[in-house]
Amino acid sequence: MNTKQNRIYLSSPHMSGDEQKYINQAFEQNWIAPLGPNVNELENTLAKYSGVKHASALSSGTAALHLSLILLGVKAGDEIMVSTFTFSASVNPIVYQGASPVFIDSERETWNMDPELLEKALSERIANGTIDKVKAIILVHLYGMPSKMDEILNIAGTYNIPIIEDAAEALGSKYKDQPIGSFGMMSILSFNGNKIITTSGGGALLSNDEQLIEKSRFLATQARDAAPHYQHSQIGYNYRMSNVLAGIGRGQMEVIDDRVEQRRANYDFYKSIFKNVEGVSLLEEPEGMYSNRWLSAILIDFKRFQLSIPDFQAALEEDNIECRPLWKPMHMQPIFSKYECYINGTSEELFNMGICLPSGSNMSDDDRQRILDSICKLLNIGH
Ligand SMILES: *Cc1c(COP(=O)(O)O)cnc(C)c1O
Repeated sequence: MNTKQNRIYLSSPHMSGDEQKYINQAFEQNWIAPLGPNVNELENTLAKYSGVKHASALSSGTAALHLSLILLGVKAGDEIMVSTFTFSASVNPIVYQGASPVFIDSERETWNMDPELLEKALSERIANGTIDKVKAIILVHLYGMPSKMDEILNIAGTYNIPIIEDAAEALGSKYKDQPIGSFGMMSILSFNGNKIITTSGGGALLSNDEQLIEKSRFLATQARDAAPHYQHSQIGYNYRMSNVLAGIGRGQMEVIDDRVEQRRANYDFYKSIFKNVEGVSLLEEPEGMYSNRWLSAILIDFKRFQLSIPDFQAALEEDNIECRPLWKPMHMQPIFSKYECYINGTSEELFNMGICLPSGSNMSDDDRQRILDSICKLLNIGH
């Protein structure tokens, strides 16, 4: 490996410079304990930016998703419809609750949940009288691309099933000019280190329903009753975001629009490289969709280039450049293989031909040139 050149990461943290200011304020005011002014300010900013009335800042996106299911009363024996093409964190909280995921495959235009398969899964449950077991749809907007909201909302409305948007990868994306995260009964965000903005670790729950968000804050702080002593009538969790980390989030939210622009510029860069290359394609934005382009991915006809995904990764690794296969669909994961799924082959095909390329908002022109050189050499294309 060429270690003389800096490593180019898939997606690394990119500070604005103001994070330290808010962290210092927390220290000066001794708000090191969880909660405090940074948490309140971050919640207000997130809600406003995402076009919802309320937000609670939490310890992770996974925690937010877990609380959303608890708030809906999800329990053993229930079913949750969930995108199969996602990261495992979209599914784990379903199993924490003892409920069963039902995996729904993707459609080709957005790579997100296929409305036709969702409709099939729900109509079958109407026919066999088990629709009451279905408590929610967890809808993932993968790599920042919005799902087909009109179709999904229509189906969810027909069958009266609440939508939880997994917008962990899609902060800043829009569908018909409306922010992603504002469509579901609840939505979750993640501020893990590799997301479009980070608090080093953190997440949020969004909703227009004040009671749900109030309840999420209560559950996330060990579910203490309003009593003079420590009294509990429900099981609680320790899921709140600390006031120190929320300071990082405040600094990050000041530059979110720049970050979306920078990620979209990365996509345009890759698009320009491959626009005349047979056998390589990128996911286009369908009409009315606006993606934050969290990660840019290419689909490669590996046969044509006589290469495999590991070959591709190894070649870029030689030049100290990180890249990664697309998410392995959940219905193909050993731990989830026993659950029901509605499959059309799309996510498996995408998994077999896709590579995520470096997409950080902090990439330099030099970085982009190195990536260009490395890929052109490997695929034997001119530039
Ligand atoms: C990152 C991610 C999560 C989980 O977020 P954490 O903050 O890491 O817990 C959930 N869903 C998707 C699609 C993600 O990419």
